[in-house]
Amino acid sequence: MSSPAVVWDPALLAYNLGDDHPFNPVRLDLTIRLATALGVLEDVPFLVPEPAVAEQLYRAHTAEYVEAVRQAPMAGWDVGHGLGTPDNPVFTDMHEASALVVGSTLLGARRIAEGRALRAVNIAGGLHHAMGDRASGFCVYNDCVVAISWLLDHGFDRIAYVDTDVHHGDGVQAAFYSDPRVLTISLHQHPFTLFPGTGYAGEIGEGAAGGRAVNLPLPPATKDAGWFRAFHAVVPSVLAAFRPQILVTQCGVDSHVEDPLADLSLTVDGHRAIYRTLREFADTFAEGRWLAVGGGGYQLIRVVPRSWTHLLATVLDRDVDPTTPLPREWTERVLAMAPKAEVPTRMTDGPDGAEPSFSRWGDGMDDPVDIAVRDTRRAVFPLHGLDPDDPRD
Ligand SMILES: [Zn+2]
Repeated sequence: MSSPAVVWDPALLAYNLGDDHPFNPVRLDLTIRLATALGVLEDVPFLVPEPAVAEQLYRAHTAEYVEAVRQAPMAGWDVGHGLGTPDNPVFTDMHEASALVVGSTLLGARRIAEGRALRAVNIAGGLHHAMGDRASGFCVYNDCVVAISWLLDHGFDRIAYVDTDVHHGDGVQAAFYSDPRVLTISLHQHPFTLFPGTGYAGEIGEGAAGGRAVNLPLPPATKDAGWFRAFHAVVPSVLAAFRPQILVTQCGVDSHVEDPLADLSLTVDGHRAIYRTLREFADTFAEGRWLAVGGGGYQLIRVVPRSWTHLLATVLDRDVDPTTPLPREWTERVLAMAPKAEVPTRMTDGPDGAEPSFSRWGDGMDDPVDIAVRDTRRAVFPLHGLDPDDPRD
């Protein structure tokens, strides 16, 4: 088994919705630069992706939609399909750039399916809002859906998708809502208060897939401790019951307290702990197979590069000590680009780099996230043979 696969090509920076758009590819560039400067990527050959071909895109999207994306840059103002809106503006080479993102996640999936790697990571992926026939939430093509669909045709029939982006993973949930082979789990800020307005505990999948969609909507301002309390009250039990052959994780970092588009209150240390936990869960519950993709994250300088450097490091088993200072070459690069930026100085948000602590659900305490925990457990636990009221489950 070779070392973990890191998919990257600067061509991925072409997925650019415009200089004034929050989804700015500079976040990917600064991440790769930071990870490189810290030595995380030393001697790691990048896997260079090819754009996904139409037949692969059809796993997630209608032919009519793919054609609309292809034509959009040449079309008039009324292209439909969610395109040409403030969230999803049309840009040059939109189809090609979007297909490359899909091809990247697919390449990671393929390496794992072929047994050439146990883990793969594509920080440019995670476009979880794209729907079958329309763009949504900055996402044109849904790389997660294409990769999972491909895995289902290549030897996998129990796939767990865990989405820790601050927004509900609605596009992935919708694609597999009646497919019992795919377990989708999403932790996100409560849909009352945030796009896309779905992801309630009662959305559990349909038919034979009842219980295979798991949603844990968290109150605004939830911090690391509350997030982990909720996560551990639901996710390990469901994964143990489902017994996936692979873990696919969407690792959006817009859950950070400084993110301008949402209102959860996690830290970079919380993100690092999420990745370390997902790695552990892949080993414990999914035969070690882990396909990690990026996602949202709009604090382009202070948060995304550090958090996803921790992601890359975790996938590679090269964990970075949180107290590590940021390399001067990286800081200078940022200041040359954004002279007024308040550049962080270390790989932690805390005073000493400690992992966030949390108390376990069922300890008799009453935490603001416990209503969400109870609702989600009651909605899905019985469908997995688990007791929603027993903290040991
Ligand atoms: Zn998001």
